[in-house]
This record gives sequence, C-alpha cells and structure tokens, in this order.
Amino acid sequence: MSDCIFCKIIVGEIPNYTIYEDDFALAFLDITPRTKGHTLVIPKVHAENLLELDEKYAEKLLVTVKKTQEKLNDVLKPDGYNVGWNHGKAGGQLVPHLHIHIMPRYNNDGGANMHAIVNNPGDESVEEVYKLFKK
Ligand code: 5GP
Ligand code: ZN
Repeated sequence: MSDCIFCKIIVGEIPNYTIYEDDFALAFLDITPRTKGHTLVIPKVHAENLLELDEKYAEKLLVTVKKTQEKLNDVLKPDGYNVGWNHGKAGGQLVPHLHIHIMPRYNNDGGANMHAIVNNPGDESVEEVYKLFKK
C-alpha cells in the first residue's frame, strides 16, 4: 500500500535500523523503544493483520521472529522477552501493517507481563464461552 509507512520502510523510502532480514520479512528497531532492543518484525508484503496475510508469508514469519531473537540474544543478551502484536483498534494497533513486537526483557527492568494488558473477562464463565464454539 503506497501510503503505508512500513511498506515505505520495506522499499527503503523511510530509513530504518535493520537487525535481521530474509526474503519474506524484515526486523528493525522500533523508533520509540519500550525496552533496549525493542524490535518490529514485518512481512515484506502489505497485510493489515495476520488474518489478511497470505499463508506463505504467515508460516515464514515465526521463523524470522526466531532468527531475530537469536540475533538479539547474541548482541544484547536479554534475560527474557515479550513477543506479540496489537491487532485492530481495540487491540491498540496504530500502524496498519502487521508488525510483531519483540521486546527484550531484563531482570528488574520494572516492566510487567502480558497479563497486564487487560483484565476484563466479562460475566460469562469459561464453560459458557466454550459452549458458544459448539453451536
Ligand atoms: P502498534 O501499531 O503496535 O501500536 O505500534 C506501532 C509501533 O511502530 C510503535 O511501537 C512505534 O514506535 C513504531 N513506529 C511507528 N513509526 C515508525 C517508524 O517510522 N520507524 C520505526 N522504526 N518504528 C516506527
Ligand atoms: Zn504496508
């Protein structure tokens, strides 16, 4: 998509700090890092989210995430990671090109875990929710 900033990064119109890339995806440092080495991994085709991404790219993407983590391990030696992506407005997605956040974590860095994102499970029990899948 021509007005997509991450597509512009892929073709080099907007500069970036690439730390790993292959034929299908690019891993570059987030411009507003939340931790040291905060990295974004994006598919090299435009897709707003995983559901819109061609499966050929989707199945490669996790391999790129793994390779990027190996690189981060080599260079920054973090103590852990949070890895994930924001999907849609409700999920807090700002840039409409799928990007997987890799946030290296360091002992006593003051951060929380993914459970801190939201805690509002609704009134239905897990069993009631499960039954919705059986209809
Ligand atoms: P999200 O869409 O998941 O809420 O977050 C978008 C992320 O993209 C943010 O962490 C933001 O700092 C990052 N970002 C936005 N524009 C650019 C850019 O031009 N270059 C880089 N490297 N990161 C960007
Ligand atoms: Zn794009």
